Amino acid sequence: MTATRETLRSWFYRPWFLAMLAAVLSSVLLLALSLFVAVHQIEQNESLEMNAQGERFLARLEQLFGQLREGLDDLEAQPLRTCDKDMIATLQQVTFNYRFVYEAVYMDASKICSNRPRQEGTSLARPPDIKDPTYSYWLNTTTEPDENRAALMLGRGNFRVATSRGHLTDMVDLSPGSSLLVILDHGTRAIPVLGSAQTWPPTKPWPPKGSDVLQVTPTRLIYLMPTKSPEYQLVLITPRTGVSVPGAWWWLVPASLALGVVAGFMVFLLVRQRQSLDAELAGAIRRGELQVLYQPIFDLDSRNCVGAEALLRWRRPDGTLTSPDLFIPMAENTGQIRQMTDFVLQRLLEQLGHLLRANPQLYISVNLAACDVMVPRIGQVMARLLILHRVAAKQIAFEVTERGLIDVVVARENLQALRDVGHQVLIDDFGTGYCSLAYLQTLPVDCLKIDKAFIDALGHDAASSGVAPHIIHMAQALQLKVIAEGIEHEAQAAFLSSEGVKYGQGWLFAHALSAVQFIELITRGRRLAGRRLDDEA
Ligand code: C2E
Ligand code: MG
Ligand code: MG
Repeated sequence: MTATRETLRSWFYRPWFLAMLAAVLSSVLLLALSLFVAVHQIEQNESLEMNAQGERFLARLEQLFGQLREGLDDLEAQPLRTCDKDMIATLQQVTFNYRFVYEAVYMDASKICSNRPRQEGTSLARPPDIKDPTYSYWLNTTTEPDENRAALMLGRGNFRVATSRGHLTDMVDLSPGSSLLVILDHGTRAIPVLGSAQTWPPTKPWPPKGSDVLQVTPTRLIYLMPTKSPEYQLVLITPRTGVSVPGAWWWLVPASLALGVVAGFMVFLLVRQRQSLDAELAGAIRRGELQVLYQPIFDLDSRNCVGAEALLRWRRPDGTLTSPDLFIPMAENTGQIRQMTDFVLQRLLEQLGHLLRANPQLYISVNLAACDVMVPRIGQVMARLLILHRVAAKQIAFEVTERGLIDVVVARENLQALRDVGHQVLIDDFGTGYCSLAYLQTLPVDCLKIDKAFIDALGHDAASSGVAPHIIHMAQALQLKVIAEGIEHEAQAAFLSSEGVKYGQGWLFAHALSAVQFIELITRGRRLAGRRLDDEA
């Protein structure tokens, strides 16, 4: 089990494997996304078309029903009530007047007469399928493909008028497999007036809930037409054409593959660069490529230097300087950070031990990583070095970030142990994590370092409010010292000072200095001599 996991892990460190994975994933993702968009578009068009067809159909049906009714009303209004030549002429006149009336019939107990020779099977004796106070409706359910068969018949008194199947089909262009259904008996019976019979009901429940006239199922589009009578419903059903991939989409295949290859290549380069950086970092201490710089911390009122923050630099053999923001997280991942923290402690005491002994008020603060806080090791390493260099514990402070306090219970215990022997504990980059006031109260800390981002927010004129004053008041309420980080303008320093912030560091005063430069600054009298000190690195 562990062996399998190890093999899997090792695959994820191979640049070409990660590159291929990135290429395949990005191609598949791009293709899937474009396919989804294309299919969605087709479905939308399909629905729009059906809606338009349904509306057209409805308008024509209303016209058709209107003509049948008007024809009937005309017949009912004229005085003739016997089957004779005049009656036949009247019936013919009605079919002539109304385009959608194919046949007009008069019938009484003894006789039937029509403008056309009567057809077999068009029974007039059958009771109507639908009946309202004025009209009766017959629906012809035969599926014979006879264009002249009556598809719809309306009756009033002794008269009947019918439209033929041909009249209906010339009116609407029904695609193959589509049907126009009349739904009776409260939605339970469906009679196809045009097209073939359909499985009924097409959706459950029927009628569907909601007000949408168009229902879309995986195989059919169902258009429910609003009708004036609650006795029946008119439904147009069309099979779905089958959503096929649009031709243009295939052009996206090579484009997506090409993009995938580019993404894969970039991942390959990135992983390779990172891995080589990883490997290089492993030997950096041994090869003496790491150096420690000191950024002075000043009293904002007197402008005296009270201490410094130790900051690591990695100068690679080709002379390039790699930012700690890049290599510290890497060292935290690989565990090399412990070695680095030890290196910083050792180097700072070697370089500044003498200065610290001569200036007992001076202190240097050291950044700790999360894993340094989780074990008591730092305290032991420190104790040994302090004895060796005869430096007081209060002259070394430790900076921990809010993110570094993963397990607060363990961290609290270790930080307390450091404070017990005389070290100061500072919360670095304060405000960028999730520390609340209540949480802060439970931590053994002496000082908050306000993150540069909040100092930047004060702007050049520094008159703005923002988060910094809030953090300052919070720290004051908890009786914690405050150090402002990243002061770049005089106005910021003045504002912070007026708000009661005692200490600050930033490029306004000095960049990070080499040990020699820092010693010079202190021995020169700790006061800023008007000019800013430049970064040695
Ligand atoms: P940090 O501890 O918050 O250090 C302050 C960073 O702000 C330093 O960047 C410093 O050079 C920079 N800085 C100071 N004043 C100004 C200013 O006025 N303007 C601007 N733009 N920047 C200013 P640096 O040295 O690049 O360090 C970055 C981060 O790397 C540090 O942030 C710290 O989290 C980490 N780091 C540096 N050295 C060590 C180390 O020895 N151990 C550990 N664990 N982390 C370290
Ligand atoms: Mg720091
Ligand atoms: Mg910071």
